[in-house]
Amino acid sequence: MPSIDGLADRLSTYLAADQVNLVRRAYFYAEQAHDGQRRRSGEAYVTHPLAVASILADMHMDHQSLMAAMLHDVIEDTGIAKEALTAQFGETVSELVDGVSKLTQMNFETKAEAQAENFQKMAMAMARDIRVILVKLADRLHNMRTLEVLSGEKRRRIAKETLEIYAPIANRLGMHSMRVEFEDLGFKAMHPMRSERIRAAVRRARGNRKEIVAKIEESIHACLQREGLQGEVTGREKHLYSIYQKMRGKRRAFNEIMDVYAFRIVVDKVDTCYRVLGAVHNLYKPLPGRFKDYIAIPKANGYQSLHTTLFGMHGVPIEIQIRTREMEEMANNGIAAHWLYKSDADEAPKGNHARARQWVKGVLEMQQRAGNSLEFIESVKIDLFPDEVYVFTPKGKIMELPKGSTAVDFAYAVHTDVGNSCIACRINRRLAPLSQALESGSTVEIVTAPGARSNPAWLNFVVTGKARTHIRHALKLQRRSESISLGERLLNKTLTSFDSHLEKISAERIQAVLAEYRVDVIEDLLEDIGLGNRMAYVVARRLLAESNDAAPSPDGPLAIRGTEGLVLNYAKCCTPIPGDPIVGHISAGKGMVVHLESCKNIADIRNNPEKCIQLNWAKDVTGEFNVELRVELEHQRGLIAVLASTVAAADGNIEKIGMDERDGRISVVQLIISVHDRVHLARVIKKLRSLAGVIRITRMRA
Ligand code: MN
Repeated sequence: MPSIDGLADRLSTYLAADQVNLVRRAYFYAEQAHDGQRRRSGEAYVTHPLAVASILADMHMDHQSLMAAMLHDVIEDTGIAKEALTAQFGETVSELVDGVSKLTQMNFETKAEAQAENFQKMAMAMARDIRVILVKLADRLHNMRTLEVLSGEKRRRIAKETLEIYAPIANRLGMHSMRVEFEDLGFKAMHPMRSERIRAAVRRARGNRKEIVAKIEESIHACLQREGLQGEVTGREKHLYSIYQKMRGKRRAFNEIMDVYAFRIVVDKVDTCYRVLGAVHNLYKPLPGRFKDYIAIPKANGYQSLHTTLFGMHGVPIEIQIRTREMEEMANNGIAAHWLYKSDADEAPKGNHARARQWVKGVLEMQQRAGNSLEFIESVKIDLFPDEVYVFTPKGKIMELPKGSTAVDFAYAVHTDVGNSCIACRINRRLAPLSQALESGSTVEIVTAPGARSNPAWLNFVVTGKARTHIRHALKLQRRSESISLGERLLNKTLTSFDSHLEKISAERIQAVLAEYRVDVIEDLLEDIGLGNRMAYVVARRLLAESNDAAPSPDGPLAIRGTEGLVLNYAKCCTPIPGDPIVGHISAGKGMVVHLESCKNIADIRNNPEKCIQLNWAKDVTGEFNVELRVELEHQRGLIAVLASTVAAADGNIEKIGMDERDGRISVVQLIISVHDRVHLARVIKKLRSLAGVIRITRMRA
């Protein structure tokens, strides 16, 4: 029967006498507070907090954690206020108890919900004081150890929660021993029959393996001795739950899993690890590709070890882990290992946060030494579930998304239509860029507009497959319908010059031409024209081949409305805007590119009717068009701000600003601004000219 005296004896091996006394006081306080309460097993309630404290004592946790363990159910179960605990035991302990109580109140229904709704609170409690989590884990461990007294349904619920929530947390914190115990106890409660069957099978296999295990162990020992190396060799067995998962997940037979022989060699220092590795590679041939150096590159939770697999005698695979005692401690106890090694000398009240930080810092340093800090810096945020973000819809529904997801991913996750018609987003009620990566806990609201279309640029930042697929699909449809409509206009324009029109051409003739071109429907042909794969002129001649072959009357230009979308692009070299004289250059597969008539890049082909087409701007042209301006001005403070506000005042948008300093006095600023047309541009330039210090403004045309 565990008692407070027994515990106090154990504590005195590593805690100061006054600290042990504080733990005692907390015990008696809890005993009184829980007086009359019994556990389901019939024992006095206080046996539970005592057992929890005892688990923490095994990890050599500090006296404040132990006090919190003693008191952890007091607020929750006895109605004693937090303030009362503060008065009795101080701020730190009462904060710890409060944190544990809050974690206890969380109800984990489904995994996704649980993680989303509660992970933040948990992460926050943890960031504030990691010991809250450690006490909570110890609490859960004792509850798991005494699960049998509960009814079937409750037992399963707790076991499930342990497997889904607490075991991963323990893993995240590098607490291997605790994770294994959580998993095996959880497995047993969830699947008592399967667990028992595997346990029996392992017991049988152990008997059969005994001889081989002993032989291998002996040969490793002898090998180390020959090399003059000191090391402790132990056989390892996989725990039941991991065997079960391997059998299910990887569909491997029990025998296959048990055919692997696993050993651990624990040595004094890092240098010895590598020498032992060399020795065992000499003893048996290593399996290529299986060697892992987690000493040089530790895992994200701080785990360090060398792993290798050897071909033993008769080809038996032998898995070997080689590590120092310290790494072994770290591998078993993870974050809690820090307390084990803490010397009493610097016990000064450094603050709890500092301690958690210290552990984190230690791991961080290891990672940096390994030159692989990126992965870990991510987890310094103490993100328990590092590969997912959880965000909320405005109605409070939780969405689980992969890390790095943006509002667009969110929109598509909500509904395809929302994604397709999304134009902007609010993150925590503020407008934010659609490309911004979402953070857990944010509330995301998507602003949609009817008729809006998905933007190809989104492909640069979306991370979910769903968003990607839908954007590509929408893009394809959009491109097709735009190509068809441009193709139709191009074709009709050419037909008009022959005094005809698509509507005037007989269905039979169209069918005949489609057959000639081997396409099924007219839309395919129009799309080809729109994309520049076929010349409208040639197709028009084919369509008219039988009715007349008169020479075309002079071409009227095709009008550009600014709404042609993907199949009509504005040349980057000369950036035409409405009002400029323009020509269209048709390039295969890309559709039409609009150039300034004076653009040098099309000088050679301007008069080739197969490649270029006369264009003009429609009266109702709409949209924003980029132009580049070069502004020379006297250098002055706050110059960019003045330029920006001037452009804005004239309703222009600045897309990009670049600046060169000519000499100390003159600056040259490149502005890319978007305007509606030439008139608008003139207005912007006029405003800019009126600024003090502006010497010259030039519109750039390559
Ligand atoms: Mn408890």
